[in-house]
Order: sequence, then C-alpha cells, then structure tokens
Amino acid sequence: MNIHEYQAKQLFKEYGVPVQDGVAVKSEAEFDSAIAAIKGDHVVVKSQIHAGGRGKGEFVDGFKGGVKFVKREEAAATAKRMLGNTIVTKQTGAAGRVVGTVFFAEAMNIKKEFYLSILMDRASSKVAVVASVAGGMDIEKVAEETPDQIMKMIIDPDIGLQAFQIRKLAFFFGFGDKEMMKQFKAIFSGLYKLFIQKDCSMVEINPLILTDEGNIVALDAKVSFDDNALFRHPELEALRDPHEEDPKEIEAGKYGLNYIALDGNIACMVNGAGLAMSTMDIIKHFGGNPANFLDVGGGANEEAITQAFNILLKDKNVKGILVNIFGGIMRCDVIAAGVIAAVKNVGLTLPLVVRLEGTNVDKGRQMLAESGIKLTTADSLADAAEKIVKIVAAENK
Ligand code: ADP
Ligand code: MG
Repeated sequence: MNIHEYQAKQLFKEYGVPVQDGVAVKSEAEFDSAIAAIKGDHVVVKSQIHAGGRGKGEFVDGFKGGVKFVKREEAAATAKRMLGNTIVTKQTGAAGRVVGTVFFAEAMNIKKEFYLSILMDRASSKVAVVASVAGGMDIEKVAEETPDQIMKMIIDPDIGLQAFQIRKLAFFFGFGDKEMMKQFKAIFSGLYKLFIQKDCSMVEINPLILTDEGNIVALDAKVSFDDNALFRHPELEALRDPHEEDPKEIEAGKYGLNYIALDGNIACMVNGAGLAMSTMDIIKHFGGNPANFLDVGGGANEEAITQAFNILLKDKNVKGILVNIFGGIMRCDVIAAGVIAAVKNVGLTLPLVVRLEGTNVDKGRQMLAESGIKLTTADSLADAAEKIVKIVAAENK
C-alpha cells in the first residue's frame, strides 16, 4: 500500500524527521486558508498522486509541472490548474493520474540535494540503505551513469542500525561536523525506526536537502507498506486513498482474490500465481493480450468464482474469458460447479474457454458439457490459449 507525500511527511514528523510545514487540501474552497498558513513570500504547490516525477510531469491540458515554486499571490491560481486535472509523469503511464489533493508547502532555500532510501534487500534478506549525493535526480539513472555517487549499506534487522553506520553515511553526505552529525543521526535513526515499526517495504526521500541555513530537511517523501503486514497496523487503513487504487482490485481483495488489472482484452481466471503467470505468457505467445492477472487461490468456492467473474466483467475491454484451473487441493467438479453457477448468476455472454486438469477432471468436464452453457473446452494450456485468442480475434475483426 502506498500513501501520499503529505501523509508520509506526517509520519516523518512523528518519528523526528524534519519536513517543511505544509497543508493538504482537497477542494478549492480551502485554498486561501491553507496558503495563509504557509510562511514566506513563496509557496510550493505540489500535486499529490501515488507516483513520482511530478516536478517534470505534464498535465493533459498542457499545464507543465506537478510541483511549482510560485509567489504567494499565484499559489491559489496554480493549485486551481492542478486540482481535478490529470497529470502524466514518468511513473504514471500514459493514462496519468487525477490530482485529488494539493499540498501547499513552505519554500526552502536549497543548498544541496541528496537521495536517501531504506528498502528490503532480497539478495541479502536484510534491510538496504541506498544513498546518493546526486539528489533530486532519478536514482536509476544515477546508478547507471555515475554509480560512484551511490552508496549501499546493509543493515541486519536483528542487530539494528549501528552508530558506525550512521557516521559512515553522514561522512558520505559531508555531514561530518558535530551539529550536522546530530541532525543527521536523528533523521537516519528516525527513518529506520519508522521503516521497522510500520512494516514498510520502502521509505524514500528524494531530495533530502541541506538548506542555506544549515538545516537538513526531507523535501519529498515516499512510503510504501508491506500489504502482508497491514493487519498489524489498523491505524494505517485511514491513510488509504481509494482514488489511487483500481476499484476492481479493492473488490477482489475483499474476497481473497489476487487481481491485477492489465490493458489487454482476454480475461483470465486461474488458480495459483505461477499458473496465472504462465497463462498470461502463453496468451501473449499466441498473439493475444491478457486483461488481468487473477489468482483465485487454492480454496476458491462457488461464491469466490462468481465474484471473480463479476470483477472480470467490470473491465469494459474484456472480449473473452479463459478459465484455467488445475485441480489439486481443489477438485475439478467443485470448480465446474462454480463456473456453471457463476456463468448463470452473472448472465455471461462473452466467449468462454475452460481448461480443467487434475482431480475429478472427468466429472468436471462432464458437468460442463451437460450444463447447457455456451463454452469451449480445451485439454491443454496451449490449446486453451490458442482457442481463446482465435475466438476473440475472429469476433473483433
Ligand atoms: P517529484 O519527485 O515527484 O518530482 P519533489 O517533491 O521531489 O517531487 O519536487 C521536485 C523538485 O522541486 C525537488 O527536487 C526540488 O528541487 C523542488 N522542490 C520541491 N519542494 C520544494 C520546496 N519546498 N522548496 C523548494 N524547492 C522545492
Ligand atoms: Mg522527489
């Protein structure tokens, strides 16, 4: 789960990490009072979306920049251009994101910009810290072009962040003097504590800045939480922004289905994540395009399958459905009963190809054949994928 910059900064504050003051609003009526609360002649107006690269982003109506440094008098007009508008950045994809919240923040005098992130490192099964003296830039680009500007540090979560590691990173950033070291220690240890206590998968500051006045401040903030640990943090649920998530994905989550929307036209319903991946691959192999990833899991019953059909059909691009179930833990006759009931419940009219394999497969196939439902059966994964791709192509010429 991701949260907005302004929410991440609130968390930073709670953990003693300095951020600039700011006020987030969701309606034009609140602009004036929000701007009045910001100190200085200038205000930074920031679009709040769950994607980075906003500074260099462009709105669909041609307005440039999702992060604007403007005179106080121009702040409301600038925010007006952003709120409700759709911004496209390097991270949003071509469709962009609608800005539902604008964050007014205090302008800072930037002397130097840095990059600092804490994330899960799969290779070492530990926590990794990635730091760079080239802040405000795309970290992937820095890693490619000037890798010497990046430092990676591994923290053993059983031991925790050590004093020497804080010093090492402080010297790397050039925060060696006593006062700077003190500031940096509070920031780094606060961030690490946040990362661990809230079960984050990533905490990222780009840029972390040194101001002309000698203060170290997090100017941007990104926090992602590990979905599998969310049950331990009911307090985080309030930070969820449903506008940033696909409603189909939220709906699927309620029924224990793993659904991820994609941009093709062949919907897939599969049990098991690995099988779902290979099903998508083989659809592509035969020239088709999957509309989604959907893993109904090992214990999918009739209700879950009906809900899965409902979710698949909410995607208007879907022109055909491929059901590919391997009956292992799950018996094929149970799946067949689920498919039959679901198709009848939702009144499915789209082409449907079903491939069943595994326990009680004969009984399952017989049930499908006798059900009177219009569907095409297949006896292998390749056969199924080829059939649905052909049917969809023929019907949508
Ligand atoms: P994004 O990473 O999505 O582009 P940032 O919050 O990092 O958004 O802002 C982009 C750039 O805008 C920053 O790298 C910084 O140079 C400038 N900026 C952002 N906030 C401020 C601020 N409060 N004062 C001065 N400059 C800012
Ligand atoms: Mg940034």
